[in-house]
Amino acid sequence: MHDLTLAELSAALYRGETTSEELTRHFLARIERLDSGLNSFVTVTAERALDQARAADAARRRGEAGPLSGIPLAHKDIFCTEGVKTSCGSKMLDSFISPYDATVVERLRAAGMVMLGKTNMDEFAMGSSSETSFYGPVRNPWDRERVPGGSSGGSACAVAARLAPAATGTDTGGSIRQPAALCGVTGIKPTYGRVSRYGMVAFASSLDQGGPITQTAEDAALMLNAMSGFDARDSTSAQRPDEDYTVGLDAALTGLRIGLPKEFFDAGLDPGVARVIEAAIKELEALGARVIEVELPNTHLSIPVYYVVAPAECSSNLARFDGVRYGYRCAAPADLHDLYCRTRGEGFGAEVKRRIMIGTYALSAGYYDAYYLKAQQIRRLIRDDYRRAFERVDVIMGPTSPSVAFKLGEKTGDPITMYLSDIYTISVNLAGLPGISIPAGFAEGLPVGLQLIGEHFGEARLLNIAHRYQQVTDWHRRTPPGID
Ligand code: GLN
Repeated sequence: MHDLTLAELSAALYRGETTSEELTRHFLARIERLDSGLNSFVTVTAERALDQARAADAARRRGEAGPLSGIPLAHKDIFCTEGVKTSCGSKMLDSFISPYDATVVERLRAAGMVMLGKTNMDEFAMGSSSETSFYGPVRNPWDRERVPGGSSGGSACAVAARLAPAATGTDTGGSIRQPAALCGVTGIKPTYGRVSRYGMVAFASSLDQGGPITQTAEDAALMLNAMSGFDARDSTSAQRPDEDYTVGLDAALTGLRIGLPKEFFDAGLDPGVARVIEAAIKELEALGARVIEVELPNTHLSIPVYYVVAPAECSSNLARFDGVRYGYRCAAPADLHDLYCRTRGEGFGAEVKRRIMIGTYALSAGYYDAYYLKAQQIRRLIRDDYRRAFERVDVIMGPTSPSVAFKLGEKTGDPITMYLSDIYTISVNLAGLPGISIPAGFAEGLPVGLQLIGEHFGEARLLNIAHRYQQVTDWHRRTPPGID
């Protein structure tokens, strides 16, 4: 039952072969049995899940069921959930019970989905390995000595280990796509503005975007249908009509022009990953696509630009955690200054502090023009690179990550090496484009992700290509050893 996709579970529920309560109990039992070795959940909301499941079953009996009704899911612990701890992987929010639901949470609940719990993540979504969490590292179900990627590592791990049929994630520089790649599941980062950021704890507001992590592209389309759309409570939400992402899934790929950026196949790419991507290119050519080389000449600047823009924005966003309003407060502060210093000193982990300091420095008088302004100018050049490439091709394709999952602890001592694991994903956020990662094979026995990047609001096309690819391959149906 846990191997079924959302589309299959939906059909089983529709035919009366199972109930939401039965499904929910099944996944809760799996979490109970398997998650102690994976650490993908911070909070499991069993009682609430069973209540929601029974309500979904009752709604179905009344004839009020939609495609996602009664299907369980997990939310990344960055999404505010009313009455449930929303920690963002941080000691700072360990005691924070959100008084409201994020728009994404509200919409998926309105679609009838049942929340199993909240998934583990890098603290405040800063990381590429899910090792910086206050709750300890998440493990990769394919090899428990390895990282699941990050920051949405708990969500990707939970879907890969079949502890949840789907999960939400957020992607500021790759945090949906990279863990999806490293765990062998599907993850899409929508166009900036497509999915509401309301109630999503802010990291870097001009880059953050929520999206689904699922087994298949078809499931991602079903989730996106429910999650996306204009939200007046998010001032950067795009005012565009809603789309049904499932309608174009089966369209033929004949004549599709796929751009391969030569910068994505450089010396930093692991040869095993490169082989998998080459095989995927052949598969898509067999489906009728044509491959064209394109250039994204400013790719090498995306990491330095991101590590000015993201810390700058985070230093401003995280100023709200001051021990006054909510979250952690240090014991017995001597005065206001002591309260601020010790609350932030004790509440934040090392990586978060590093980013706040870099960001504060980059924004300070005298350095703003040299760093922040310059970074924003280069950001424009990166966007222009993509614009030019899209004059010649319909989508851009390449690896999601330069390597397969690395060992726990392997990169924690060297932030720069860690930052480089997002070399193929970060420019997509800087340009505000949609990107999807889908399972495309294995190197050294570990999953490899194929990345497809689309034009602004081109999600439907990405999902269509991914779906066609998944109809002729079965990488997305493989499960980690020991996960029966
Ligand atoms: N790994 C990147 C970072 O550490 C991106 C994280 C993300 O997308 N949330 O900032």
